[in-house]
Amino acid sequence: MQIKQSVIVITGGAQGLGLAMAEHFAAAGARLALIDMNEAVLADAVASCQRQGAADVRSYVTNVTDESAVEATFSQIDSDFNGIDVLINNAGILRDGMLIKYKNGELTHKMPLQQWQSVIDVNLTGTFLCGREASAIMAKHEKGGVIINISSVARAGNIGQTNYAATKAGVVAMTVTWARELGRFGIRCGAIAPGFIETPMTQAMKPEAVERALAMVPLRRWGQPEEVADSARYIIENDFFSGRVIEIDGGVRL
Ligand code: NAD
Repeated sequence: MQIKQSVIVITGGAQGLGLAMAEHFAAAGARLALIDMNEAVLADAVASCQRQGAADVRSYVTNVTDESAVEATFSQIDSDFNGIDVLINNAGILRDGMLIKYKNGELTHKMPLQQWQSVIDVNLTGTFLCGREASAIMAKHEKGGVIINISSVARAGNIGQTNYAATKAGVVAMTVTWARELGRFGIRCGAIAPGFIETPMTQAMKPEAVERALAMVPLRRWGQPEEVADSARYIIENDFFSGRVIEIDGGVRL
């Protein structure tokens, strides 16, 4: 699929990786629908994509965990753009913490259910809802399409990330399932598993966590959001790519 004039929907498109992908595709002449719940930052993202030369760019203030809001947003995008070519399921959150803490014979901490559930809701349920709505629209227009799910190297399991790792492994399972189920409609589905990429999410990490993280990367640097955008472009443009994960992580294996 070519990028120019394609309708590309990006969730979590207001900042970080989502914004980098939006700017990348804007410069290539795509038509963009940016979904995010952060209204203030979303307005800046739209302006930036316009400066980059997007053929069209519209924003939708939506919480991807809210089923009726997601249904309404995708229906609005369908009528605004007359179809969807690409969905990038990128909205995601971290709520790190240990499963339990046990010291001197005493249980001092259990991960609260809410800490687990909040990450499941955004990373897993949000991806499910947006993928379901986008694929229904793609099937209806009978022109095929591409869905890209953003996973993470943490899908292999990582200390302090019970919730996040579970969702990012789940996202890969959904990717394979959708590649199998939706191929009959000409819809391809791929995933990207980034390592540590320089975004507001990683900028919020504690300095000692940053040091530990970089020590695990053979290339000894953060990845750049544009390097992830390049992988998304590859998935969109290669019409025989489906059901696989691109790892873009500087060689780190958690
Ligand atoms: P970020 O926090 O900088 O941006 C995430 C965006 O998603 C924000 O604009 C936020 O408002 C939006 N968002 C969050 N919850 C939402 C919701 N319920 N509904 C709608 N929008 C919502 O994060 P990022 O670093 O750009 O990460 C983007 C994706 O890449 C995430 O899925 C993340 O898990 C994944 N990832 C990031 C890294 C990294 O190193 N930055 C590594 C691996 C995977």
